[in-house]
Amino acid sequence: MNYNKKSIEDIEVAGKRVLCRCDFNVPTKEGKITSDKRIVSAMPTIEYLVNHGAKVILCSHMGKPKGEWKPELSLKVVAERISQLLGKEVIMASDVIGEDAKAKAAALQDGDVMLLENVRYMKGETKNDPELSRELASMADIFVNDAFGTAHRAHSSTAGVADYLPAVCGYLVQKEVGVMGKALADPERPFVAILGGAKVSDKLNVINNLLEKVDTLIIGGGMAYTFLAAKGYGVGASLLDAEKLDYCRDMMAKAEEKGVKLLLPVDTAVAASFPSPIDAEIEVQTVAADAIPDGMMGLDIGEKTRELFAEAAKSAKTVVWNGPMGVFENPVLAKGTIAVAQALADSDAVTIVGGGDSAAACEQLGFASKITHISTGGGASLEFLEGLELPGIACLQDK
Ligand code: ADP
Ligand code: MG
Repeated sequence: MNYNKKSIEDIEVAGKRVLCRCDFNVPTKEGKITSDKRIVSAMPTIEYLVNHGAKVILCSHMGKPKGEWKPELSLKVVAERISQLLGKEVIMASDVIGEDAKAKAAALQDGDVMLLENVRYMKGETKNDPELSRELASMADIFVNDAFGTAHRAHSSTAGVADYLPAVCGYLVQKEVGVMGKALADPERPFVAILGGAKVSDKLNVINNLLEKVDTLIIGGGMAYTFLAAKGYGVGASLLDAEKLDYCRDMMAKAEEKGVKLLLPVDTAVAASFPSPIDAEIEVQTVAADAIPDGMMGLDIGEKTRELFAEAAKSAKTVVWNGPMGVFENPVLAKGTIAVAQALADSDAVTIVGGGDSAAACEQLGFASKITHISTGGGASLEFLEGLELPGIACLQDK
């Protein structure tokens, strides 16, 4: 995949209607935005377009309305927040491609900004319906994709619309693709990848691709237990993807063949059950990785593993990290995740963190400012690391 895409700076936007797909899928509680990080991340692109005299038509999804008009998933709160940040009114459309949106888009003056309603109110969006793509495109002259979080989806507003308009990226997508593309194409070595988290099956597939690129692959979190089981260890009640045991054995063999160091936990914190609520007090003990008692659940890496992983991360020049090392939401089970975050924060390597929970962990634990790049895309950053082509990026014009 060619990562060298044209950006908003490579196309004349003055006086043009620019349809700008952003990721405004922000968390809300009782109708209020609880984190505006995604909106703030989109501001440089919006400001550039406004300052260069474009007529800006913003577009995003929020949640999963599945083609239904769910008022609680309206983007009105987002329009208000952008207005505050921009110091300028953002015109809210009451529909996506309906009369109101079209009339408001047609009436825009240079430098005006409007926001379409939640694009997933339209059934065609997630099906990449060409009819919807064409309708969206009909309101604009240029398409800008700045929604990295949905770039791995081929939807009408993320990729389909580029069939009908000249398409370039915004600053956020440019930054994501720039940092991660470089890390993968031409990494400074040693290159270390750290995988963890709970989405075991999804992430197991990334490993095959990463083994082609990295010098060391570290596996912790929930996915480690499938590897331990593949080595013949009992894993008690820990997370296990029983269908991937052969795959894990293949990956261990591949690592050996390629001379890639594959690090698995040597010890693990276990408990009798998953904490409920997640931050409940919990009694844990640390056992060797090959001595997890029957019925017990591995919920974090142990102390020896923390040292092993931190040591490997410290010697790296490039580190990508996706997935917490344990159930970090519980302070007793956060030690592994803290140790890895600390190691990344202390190193002068290029450090890249992807994945919603991993990013949240870095922020909650206070390490975010010491990480080179925290990706705004969970699934998208994973697919990027897997070497898959992201439709929302592939559809943009090459430089
Ligand atoms: P990300 O969002 O960073 O991609 P995931 O969504 O895959 O990460 O996984 C994050 C979740 O994994 C966290 O909520 C954490 O509690 C959980 N987790 C980590 N280790 C374990 C484990 N050993 N057993 C069960 N859940 C785990
Ligand atoms: Mg997650």
